[in-house]
Amino acid sequence: MADRLGNSLSGGAPAPDVDVAIIGAGISGISMAAHMQAICPDRTYAMIERREALGGTWDLFRYPGVRSDSDMHTLGFVFEPWKHEKSIADGPSILDYLNRIVDERGIRPHIRFRTTVLSADWNGATAQWELVVEQPGAERRRITARLLYLGSGYYDYDNPHDAQFPGREDFKGDVIHPQFWPEGYDYSGKRVVVIGSGATAATMVPAMTDRADHVTMLQRTPTWYAARPARDAIANTLRKFLPEKLAYTITRFKNVRMQDFIFKQARTKPEKVKEFLTKQAKQELGDKYDAAAFTPPYNPWEQRLCLIPDGDLFKAIKAGKADIVTDHIDRFDATGIQLKSGKHLDADTIITATGLKLAIAGKIAVSVNGAPVDFSERFYYKGCMFSNVPNLAVVFGYLNASWTLRADINADYICRLLNHMKARNAVVAMPVLPDDHRLPEDNIFDFSSGYIQRGMHLMPKSAQAMPWRLNQDYVRDRVWLKNDPIEDGIMRLGGPAAAVTAEPALEAAE
Ligand SMILES: Cc1cc2nc3c(=O)[nH]c(=O)nc-3n(C[C@H](O)[C@H](O)[C@H](O)COP(=O)(O)OP(=O)(O)OC[C@H]3O[C@@H](n4cnc5c(N)ncnc54)[C@H](O)[C@@H]3O)c2cc1C
Repeated sequence: MADRLGNSLSGGAPAPDVDVAIIGAGISGISMAAHMQAICPDRTYAMIERREALGGTWDLFRYPGVRSDSDMHTLGFVFEPWKHEKSIADGPSILDYLNRIVDERGIRPHIRFRTTVLSADWNGATAQWELVVEQPGAERRRITARLLYLGSGYYDYDNPHDAQFPGREDFKGDVIHPQFWPEGYDYSGKRVVVIGSGATAATMVPAMTDRADHVTMLQRTPTWYAARPARDAIANTLRKFLPEKLAYTITRFKNVRMQDFIFKQARTKPEKVKEFLTKQAKQELGDKYDAAAFTPPYNPWEQRLCLIPDGDLFKAIKAGKADIVTDHIDRFDATGIQLKSGKHLDADTIITATGLKLAIAGKIAVSVNGAPVDFSERFYYKGCMFSNVPNLAVVFGYLNASWTLRADINADYICRLLNHMKARNAVVAMPVLPDDHRLPEDNIFDFSSGYIQRGMHLMPKSAQAMPWRLNQDYVRDRVWLKNDPIEDGIMRLGGPAAAVTAEPALEAAE
């Protein structure tokens, strides 16, 4: 028997290769694997990763000084304490943390490295996802899975945002994008210009003052910066007296609340927050403070508030090793950058920290019974599934808090869903939104960050109210995802068991 979506309700189809195909071995994929092992250990999974190593973002980005820009007590997993002294951590420490978790929990043998998922088609007749995967130098293969879990991140791994500066080919020095940092690149004694003012630029500028002759941050628009100690004194004190896990839980809770408080203050009392940040910059910079360089034309947290650990960027500027120029690029020329103001920036190396290019679903061509799924036409369901798409989950982390907070609650929810499906003898789970798909929408992406604005047309829809929404409120989402019943009248299950309500509900879809 099959419903109108073609979903098999008879259970007679052959078993899939794995119960869950997890795409990506970054933070999101690892969180899901660890949750599966803890919560539904009897279900099988494969983690499919296009790169040769795990870590995703933290393996790809290798530029000088690469580090987190949120604290590791919330960027770390709920299940594994962050034990380093520094809370704002460098890329290699984050990679160590991820590798240790994967090895200690026996996750590595489940990872299929150097394997890119090209397409995923939901076959309703077998109630399985059929993935086409590719490995270098090998024939394309098919892998089947009951549920597809997209931990594939949010940006294009092959192509960063190309700001297309005129005259680029005239420049005689090196032009580097931080996404593709050349291993061992020697910038000793060079005059470096970093274009951009976001987290990447703010990280690289002070880091490169170690060897460069001088580093200039060239920005079109300033960013709000907040200086904060890289070491969390409370966390480190708690660790001395309390068991590691308890100390971590308390610090994580503290930081979640603090992040939430600061974000809400910025949204409700922007003038107060601006005043605070401006005062801090003035104190740190003294006579090097330049109002034009540190006064963005938007409010704090309309774009991600940029963290400056131990005020390193301010220190580099104060020491005269770095500076910030606020101007527009006219063109690159042989010796540097000609600015629209008429000034010229001499450079040996230009770094284009101009941002990422958004990519949805790891650029996988997703379809349901052969019909392409356009994610921009779908609503988020509980921030982790999509309207009328069966057995598919995703992680799109918070814009106003650490990514892992979302990765952990989504993984926990999907594992509970898997257990619930098993208990109900169901093979299909689909949040059903009746035909019209015309819920009042809310722009949760009212973030003016470039990569969000450039990718808006690709983003799934978000309604004004839960559950059809990608909320930006971890504290509430966590309670919601944990406590709201799986069968909430929207999530419909289908499968061999006669008791499930799948058929009429699934008929309502599409
Ligand atoms: C430089 C930088 C610093 C950041 N700092 C922070 C921070 O401090 N705090 C914070 O909260 N967030 C930060 N972020 C956001 C960051 O990306 C997330 O924190 C997090 O690492 C994302 O994890 P992920 O597993 O979802 O995605 P990713 O880390 O992007 O991993 C996705 C994985 O999926 C794989 N993949 C993708 N498509 C396919 C496919 N079709 N087939 C097979 N494999 C595929 C990729 O190869 C990759 O390994 C930062 C981002 C960048 C770029």
